[in-house]
Amino acid sequence: MLFRDTNLNDRQVDLRLENGRIAAVADSKTLAPLPGEEVLLNGRITAPFAEPHVHLDAALLGARMPNRSGTLREGIANWAVLREELTVEDVRERAIETAEMYAQTGTLRIRTHVDTGSLLAVETLVGLKAEFASRGIDLQVVAFPQEGILRAPGRLEQWEEAVRMGCDAVGGIPHFERTTEEGWDSVRRVFDLAERTDTLIDFHCDETDDPHSRNLEVVCAETLDRGWQGRVVAGHCTALHSYNAPHAAKVIELVAEAGVQVIANPLDNVVLQGRYDTYPRRRGITRVDQLWEAGALVGIGHDSVQDPWYRLGTANMLDPAYMLIHVSQLTSEHEMRRVFDTLSGDNHLPFGGPPRLEAGERGQLLWWAEDDPIEVIRTRTPPRVFR
Ligand SMILES: [Zn+2]
Repeated sequence: MLFRDTNLNDRQVDLRLENGRIAAVADSKTLAPLPGEEVLLNGRITAPFAEPHVHLDAALLGARMPNRSGTLREGIANWAVLREELTVEDVRERAIETAEMYAQTGTLRIRTHVDTGSLLAVETLVGLKAEFASRGIDLQVVAFPQEGILRAPGRLEQWEEAVRMGCDAVGGIPHFERTTEEGWDSVRRVFDLAERTDTLIDFHCDETDDPHSRNLEVVCAETLDRGWQGRVVAGHCTALHSYNAPHAAKVIELVAEAGVQVIANPLDNVVLQGRYDTYPRRRGITRVDQLWEAGALVGIGHDSVQDPWYRLGTANMLDPAYMLIHVSQLTSEHEMRRVFDTLSGDNHLPFGGPPRLEAGERGQLLWWAEDDPIEVIRTRTPPRVFR
């Protein structure tokens, strides 16, 4: 396979793929096609996309028990019923079907949360890593206590057991614990468990419109005090949208200092947040422009693929990118390009960083017939995927 005169990191190159590896990268029009070699002309090459935040245990369940009101509350109630009916085969089949939807639209690394309220789902997803790898997809699993760890007896133990079963990261949901103090306590317990088990950390953090939900600053302080920079992710952070300006500025500075990566999930949050508002109604998306401006790390998640919380979803990462550009008003030319670059760039940070597209490296990449990222986002046409 030879790509000729193709844009790679804003340089025109020729690139050859051979036996699953990048065999050569050279100046444009310097590599001649070998006999019988397929050639793709022009366009753009990027690294594959990464998905830092999805729930494969709940994916594709949206039609099985429709969320008729479309609200977070009914989504949680439906999931509580559906979770009790899960079987190994069901979790397995839906996870693989969803992962293939991701792979076919260019995403080859997936970090899934799994509700530790179902150890069957935990065991099934952790057990799927080899199957995913055989399809060219890297899978990470986060032990996510959907209903908190301190609200009811038994949940803490299930969550600890889930981590012992081989999850890559410890999850938490501090804003959902009973009190502010118990939320902060849960944050520290997440760090304690991750330290004991040498795992990563990935919170659902302040996914509320309540400006008094203040867990992100605790996450950042713990990250700094424990020297855990680079290992901690905070998803959603929608309360940040509603903080007053001085407090938001303080927290954003702390996020940047702590190297905590904030994952925006614009598809779910634009429909699930703001539900207690009449008008004006808030957008409920974290402050991506200000985080970027402060030098903080940001990623973009799809979060839901046809699950009890969000009936829509294609697993094409260009969809949340498109939504984010709209709801966060990231419509300058520079910002639209940055959103596109995030999918193949900073979205890989939870996996240790973006793959390098150089000679000798693994031959996983995307080829876009359209060179202009803004056109790619406009049409959301999938690339050719090499995995
Ligand atoms: Zn989530």
